[in-house]
Amino acid sequence: AAPAEQYDLLAIDTLLSSDEKDVRASVRQFCDSAVDPHVAEWFEAGDLPSIRELTKALGDLGVLGMHLDGYGCAGMSAVEYGLACLELEASDSGIRSLVSVQGSLAMYALWRWGSDEQKAEWLPRMAAGLAIGCFGLTEPDHGSDPSGLRTRARRSGADWVLSGTKTWITNGSIADVAIVWADAGEDGGIRGFVVPTDSAGFTAHPIEHKLSLRASVTSELVLDEVRLPESAALPGVTGLRGPLSCLGEARYGIVWGAMGAARTAFRTALDYSLTRQQFGRPIAGFQLTQEKLARMNQELALGTLLALHLGRLKDSSGVRPAQVSAGKLNNVGKALEICRTARTILGANGISLEYPVIRHLTNLESVLTYEGTAEIHTLTVGQALTGIPAFR
Ligand code: FAD
Repeated sequence: AAPAEQYDLLAIDTLLSSDEKDVRASVRQFCDSAVDPHVAEWFEAGDLPSIRELTKALGDLGVLGMHLDGYGCAGMSAVEYGLACLELEASDSGIRSLVSVQGSLAMYALWRWGSDEQKAEWLPRMAAGLAIGCFGLTEPDHGSDPSGLRTRARRSGADWVLSGTKTWITNGSIADVAIVWADAGEDGGIRGFVVPTDSAGFTAHPIEHKLSLRASVTSELVLDEVRLPESAALPGVTGLRGPLSCLGEARYGIVWGAMGAARTAFRTALDYSLTRQQFGRPIAGFQLTQEKLARMNQELALGTLLALHLGRLKDSSGVRPAQVSAGKLNNVGKALEICRTARTILGANGISLEYPVIRHLTNLESVLTYEGTAEIHTLTVGQALTGIPAFR
């Protein structure tokens, strides 16, 4: 491997506190031993064979809901959470997705909008990795525009009855609890419901044939007249503001995470270029390769600085949704470019799972689409700049 200063030319590390570096180091150490030796196999098999053990280990590490406080959560800063996301995604976007969905989507929904009873029932077990959560917003006919979602919640005596289908739900078929967003009509419009997955009428099926995020479980959820007590509704919010607030948290983690995937691709390409010889010299010695490495390094450094800037803002005055959109839009797009360039430096080896580059490249295709597509974030930034919404 190249010396550390070759990996961090702009000395971005000097902007981090020692506590922040400690968090980063402990997540990296975990990934080095528990994820990296296995993740290419998991990806190839399209399976996370020991997901319960892995989730428990992530709970012991303290990264599940780590930016939340109380109820067994670690209460860390946004920057510390971001650094953890970067390290997790440097190993695989699927592992970061597991942590994001658990902490930023399912746990955050409960923590921000749940009743004391809901929080006490679920958050400590979820923080410990003993219970897995999923977040069901997307439906077969409602992706980028969830405003017209069709899953219905109707009153039946003192109960709620939920019916509908959710698709592309991370962790869906292994979850213990699903946060399901449904239209409650005159009872508040779009609302969140805490659905234990052993409820009668709830089923989940894995989505097969993915060529991206293969080390991640993605599922369809079917709710067929699922009867829940009145207390199952999240009391704190009505309308799309509820799910959007959670998505804002998860997108923030992606701003950092994407730079993790990019970092792995960059380092792999740099190391490879220094040892691979063609025409009698290392391919790193060719100007065309150096141009690629310089450009990758620039974008990696700029994206990391952008993530850190948004993290510092979030920890001080807070971030606006359009700022997080700008971060996700830039960093996922740049991470994809970095992975594609790294792929070319590895030549034929670039398409092999023996190296991490093609895995990160295909994973990022999902990351580009989920949590708001690149197009939707472009329109969000456009609206913030012009004041004119161009969504419909
Ligand atoms: P569509 O909304 O149909 O979009 C198709 C294309 O049209 C896109 O390019 C889009 O940008 C474009 N488009 C749409 N509207 C406009 C517009 N106004 N202007 C310009 N272009 C537009 N969802 C969950 O709820 N929970 C999860 O845990 C979850 N996990 C996921 C995991 C994976 C691996 C994947 C791939 C998806 C996951 N999703 C999840 C779903 C994800 O959030 C949606 O795929 C995403 O919101 C896009 O919706 P769609 O796929 O239906 O695409």
